[in-house]
Amino acid sequence: MKKAYNFNAGPCVLPREAVNAAIEALKDFKGTGMSVIEVSHRSKEWEAVMDECRSLWKEILNIPEGYSVLFLGGGASLQFLYVAMNLLENKAAYLETGVWAKKALKEAKGIGNAYAIASSADKTYSYIPKGYEIPTDIDYFHITTNNTIYGTEIKEDIDCPVNLVADMSSDIMSRPVDVSKYALIYGGAQKNVGPAGTVFVIVKNDILGKVSRYLPTMLDYRTHIEGESMFNTPPVFSIFVMNETLKWVKAQGGLEAIKKMNEEKAAILYNEIDRNPLFRGTAAVEDRSLMNICFVMAEGYENLQDEFFAFAKERGMVGIKGHRSVGGFRASTYNACPKEAVEALVACMQEFEKLHTK
Ligand SMILES: *Cc1c(COP(=O)(O)O)cnc(C)c1O
Repeated sequence: MKKAYNFNAGPCVLPREAVNAAIEALKDFKGTGMSVIEVSHRSKEWEAVMDECRSLWKEILNIPEGYSVLFLGGGASLQFLYVAMNLLENKAAYLETGVWAKKALKEAKGIGNAYAIASSADKTYSYIPKGYEIPTDIDYFHITTNNTIYGTEIKEDIDCPVNLVADMSSDIMSRPVDVSKYALIYGGAQKNVGPAGTVFVIVKNDILGKVSRYLPTMLDYRTHIEGESMFNTPPVFSIFVMNETLKWVKAQGGLEAIKKMNEEKAAILYNEIDRNPLFRGTAAVEDRSLMNICFVMAEGYENLQDEFFAFAKERGMVGIKGHRSVGGFRASTYNACPKEAVEALVACMQEFEKLHTK
């Protein structure tokens, strides 16, 4: 197989072990003589996967009693609506840290009274707003812990006087999280825990059932808690690979070990961005994401952007183009991105520097 250094933002690089397990299960799922995409989701073999996956979530993230773990369809984008429908009665506040946060807020506004208490739109979402006060008369406060497009991240679990809801699509399982500080955590699997097709939801059971609106059956979290994420046919393949990805996370030593690996990888790349005169980082230093590392050509070298893309591509770098809305470069260094990939990118930047400086 041709070697690619995959820095895609999502879908993205997955552990080889998970991909290989998926290949085997596509051929023959647990000796059933059928593919994992052919078996009944009501079979005992499948139910064992669901159980294992739920247990791994609980174990790895140390999820306390009183929370449910759900695997649903519709992407994180549908969760924007789910959250508001299930939790918004009077008022909800959002921290507007990027396009995904803004989209989440838009859905909530369609349901009721929702507003941004702070925004970093004034500087193209290059930092996380600070010093805002979380009101106590709201149903929930919504944050996006990692801003995939802009490369900023809320790296600590914040204290919140009301129900805290977090979109953790792009940094879930990248560090330990104190789940007890959150009322609800959700995200698409395709950034750090699996292929596209499923979302994870970690919800504190007792926050539900408090809104007066009619909830369509499929948009009511309680339906899926009761049905153990099998009220309707779940996205089996995506869940299968997610389960294998979690096994890999556990085998790495869990989230403390994963966090160390992520910090190390990010430091290697940020150090080079800061050192190399041809490049500069775009996110506020204290808010720099460990998952999505955004940078541009430094002043005076802007005209070299296309040349660097071609140069890096030739050396096996994939997916380092910044999001179409911001341009520049973005290297996503998710859990399964190996250190060698980051080192290869750094070597590439250094080689490019030699070509263009005296
Ligand atoms: C990718 C992403 C989403 C959207 O996820 P979908 O599953 O494609 O709907 C939402 N929030 C964040 C932070 C993301 O990175």
